[in-house]
Formats: sequence, C-alpha cells, structure tokens
Amino acid sequence: MLEAKGLMVFYENMLALNNIDIKCEAGQIVGVFGANSAGKSTLMYTLSGIMQDIKKKEEMSGGERITVMGEVKYQNETITDLKPSQRARKGIVLCPERRRIFSESSVLENLKIGAYLATRSQAKYTLEYVFKLFPALEKLKKRIGGFLSGGEQQMLAIGRALMAQPKVLLLDEPLLGLSPLMQATLILATREIRDEMNISIIITEQYARPVMPIVDYAFILENGSAVMEGTKEELMDNRDIRAAYFGVEESYT
Ligand code: ATP
Repeated sequence: MLEAKGLMVFYENMLALNNIDIKCEAGQIVGVFGANSAGKSTLMYTLSGIMQDIKKKEEMSGGERITVMGEVKYQNETITDLKPSQRARKGIVLCPERRRIFSESSVLENLKIGAYLATRSQAKYTLEYVFKLFPALEKLKKRIGGFLSGGEQQMLAIGRALMAQPKVLLLDEPLLGLSPLMQATLILATREIRDEMNISIIITEQYARPVMPIVDYAFILENGSAVMEGTKEELMDNRDIRAAYFGVEESYT
C-alpha cells in the first residue's frame, strides 16, 4: 500500500533519516517509535510530501539545504515527486504533530475546512461519523479552536484529517502531552477508525506502551536509523527495546 525505500533526509550535513525502509499494508496500523529528534516528523513529512514544501521554502529564503533521497510508493505507483496536495488527493493525509488546528475558527469550521477534498455527501457522512467517534466535539462545535483543551484539540485534528477522506492516515505523535485517560481514548478511537473506515494508519510516538496494543507492526527509530522492526511480540522480546520504549523496568534480581 504505502511504502518507502532507502529514504535519506539531510538538513545541510545533518543526517535526519538514514536509509529507511518502511511499509504499511492495507488495513494495517503501523507504529514508529523513537525518542525526541529520532526523525519521526521528518519521516511523516517525507511520506506526506510536506518535506518538498519545507525544502522549497528553505531554498527560496536562502536557508539551509535539504536533501531527500529514496523512493515513496503508493499502491505500487512511485509518488516520490508528487506534491502534498496530490498525495492528499490520493488519500495520504497527515495529521501533524502539535495539532495545528485553526485556532481562530470554530470546531465546525475546522472540520469543514478539512473536507476540501470530499464530496458533499462524503462530508456530511464523515461529519456525522466524527461526532459519533468524538461526542465531546459535537457539544463543542461552536467553540473557537484556540479555547479547546489539548485533548479536544487532538480530537479535532484527527477529525479534520478524517474529513479529507484518507486511505492512509499519518498520525504524528497524537498523544503528546495528554493525560493517560485521553491517550487511551485516542488510541481506542484510532483502532475504531481503522476498523470502521477500513483505512491504513501510520502512527508515531515517543513511547510505545500506550500504542502497542493496536499496532500490527512497528519500527524503532534511533538517530534517524531504523534499529529494529517487527511485531509486538518480537519487539517485546528485546530487553533494551522493552526498557527504552515500553517503560517496563527490568528487575535485576
Ligand atoms: P520530536 O519527538 O522531538 O518531534 P522527531 O523524532 O519528530 O522528534 P524530527 O523532528 O524529525 O524528530 O527531527 C529529526 C532531527 O532533524 C532533529 O535533530 C531535528 O533537530 C532535525 N531537524 C528537524 N527539522 C529540521 C529543519 N527544518 N532544519 C534542521 N534540522 C531539522
């Protein structure tokens, strides 16, 4: 479905992604876990095409040189050179890190903005679905985005991404800074979205533990390199990975 091969991203001379191969099959939830600066957002920007916009902006302002190498394929078609809007039209939709909602627009306006790629009937149906998935949002539909709590903003960010009719949803650190209860709500919602909308999801997080129950396959990124990949069981079998990403303390007795 969505696949990247040999992805390399340099910010000037700094290697942010080092020869990454990643694959997400139809209907899968794939996790990408890594500490701060591991390269998670860089990967999501490269898959969604936003990296091209960042690169262009840097070039126009005479800023740093960004080099992207490797191949991104979607449904066996090479999309490496497609713009983010062209990828979105194919169904590759990014829900970016730190929510990035329109803070001066209402909840409903934010959701409607997300529907720019949807037909009228898709927009109506998806809006109803988003409100069913996150009933809190329906109650807040007239509230200005900037006045929502972090958790509500994240629900809105996911809802807005769903309005764009994704086939592959890229969720970049959706749990960042949220309470364990809100994290659990969002994780259950993520699984429900996959099951109900029958889409694929790639989700990045710093800690694997809250996300692991819903993933089919996962990658561990360290300093831009994929140091391990596998199923939940395969990753849990590795003592170092378990301690670093699952928050499971080792006992040395
Ligand atoms: P976090 O969890 O903190 O968001 P991350 O895993 O998403 O981290 P990235 O944001 O992809 O990591 O960053 C990877 C590395 O690339 C970091 O060292 C970061 O400082 C650097 N980096 C990211 N964006 C740029 C940029 N536009 N210019 C220069 N360096 C960058």
